[in-house]
Amino acid sequence: MQRLRNLCEHPAKGHLSHPLAAWKKSNCVKEVEKLQEKRERRRLQQQELREKRAQEADVTIPNYEIMYMIRDFRASLDYRPLTTADLVTKPDTKRRICVCVRKRPLNKRELSLKDLDVITIPSKDVVMVHEPKQKVDLTRYLENQTFRFDYAFDDSTTNEMVYRFTARPLVETIFERGMATCFAYGQTGSGKTHTMGGDFSGKNQDCSKGIYALAAQDVFLMLKKPNYKKLDLQVYATFFEIYSGKVFDLLNHKAKLRVLEDGKQQVQVVGLHEHEVKCTEDVLKLIKVGNSYRMSGQTSANAHSSRSHAVFQIILQRKGKMHGKFSLIDLAGNERGADTISSNKQTRLEGAEINKSLLALKECIRALGRNKPHTPFRASKLTQVLRDSFIGENSRTCMIATISPGMISCENTLNTLRYANR
Ligand code: ADP
Ligand code: MG
Repeated sequence: MQRLRNLCEHPAKGHLSHPLAAWKKSNCVKEVEKLQEKRERRRLQQQELREKRAQEADVTIPNYEIMYMIRDFRASLDYRPLTTADLVTKPDTKRRICVCVRKRPLNKRELSLKDLDVITIPSKDVVMVHEPKQKVDLTRYLENQTFRFDYAFDDSTTNEMVYRFTARPLVETIFERGMATCFAYGQTGSGKTHTMGGDFSGKNQDCSKGIYALAAQDVFLMLKKPNYKKLDLQVYATFFEIYSGKVFDLLNHKAKLRVLEDGKQQVQVVGLHEHEVKCTEDVLKLIKVGNSYRMSGQTSANAHSSRSHAVFQIILQRKGKMHGKFSLIDLAGNERGADTISSNKQTRLEGAEINKSLLALKECIRALGRNKPHTPFRASKLTQVLRDSFIGENSRTCMIATISPGMISCENTLNTLRYANR
């Protein structure tokens, strides 16, 4: 363009009378005009598009501008979501930790508020957050942040599919005398209980579709394999809750339990009921009992369960000794904010306790990932109770970070992704 302008302004300096120069000049002018026309056309087109959109736009959507920006951004992406054809990476001594993210669909409340979905999962391991921002001159723009994980599950992914890539590869670990652990981490309402405990259809939870049950089912399947059958293993299950640093047995009328550590650093939850289970049905019954205790005495199920960690364990025993253990944990909500402003002392203390345990958990998982000899498991009741999971060659962990898609959850979602992003 600049070159063209130079040519026109100084066409073959001093040779203006030359017919070739004149011809060149008129040609240059034409070129410039053409470009100007083109630019004008484009400007008009864009203006038209904007006007058309403004007319079409459901102005009742509070952030329709942002919505279009996200839509345009998405249109430019190449989608390659996870499929069953994708390889499942098995954890090994080099890769003992797997971190995944699961996005849930917009829920009824978000839809009624016309909240926007600001999360895009374009491929099997990428999560994008479209964070709306504002410049000083008040024009709005999107800040698109990209995070990479072992797997990313979009809002159409089923529990079975999430299970296939997360907890399922860990089942074998407990048959090989190892410790397997699977956490659901995220903001309240983001889908932790849905993932671990199962689909809520109406008021009832279909616990057969949760990761607790799917893992149990595979344990019984694997038990039948000739290699493991000859070990003569027994299967037991426990289900307990950690609330404000105290442990309650969900399979024994919510009895309060003590946690003791002996001289050899062996941690014991004294009196925790271990129920022998013979089939998946037995396990489902226990999950139902535990869930009913988890919710009891509360007006809203989430009000209490969001402030406690639920731990479901499948234990393999051989000749009365522990052979392997699978711990599946539905963690307390990681959101903050309300707690700090709240005047209620109890709520603030609970919040502080949750923060402490989630930070301790992060440290312990880090130590596991780096094969560090010292694991700071004593920093919280949660990590103390799960001590076994963080030590030893044969420990494997999986973290499923659940996120809400809505713009109103953007801050919490970013916090979850940053926590999970090692
Ligand atoms: P959390 O345990 O993290 O507080 P929940 O699992 O209770 O969250 O989920 C909150 C709501 O969202 C529930 O009504 C649940 O049925 C719904 N939900 C969560 N995840 C999904 C999903 N992947 N698909 C459909 N609905 C979901
Ligand atoms: Mg929950």
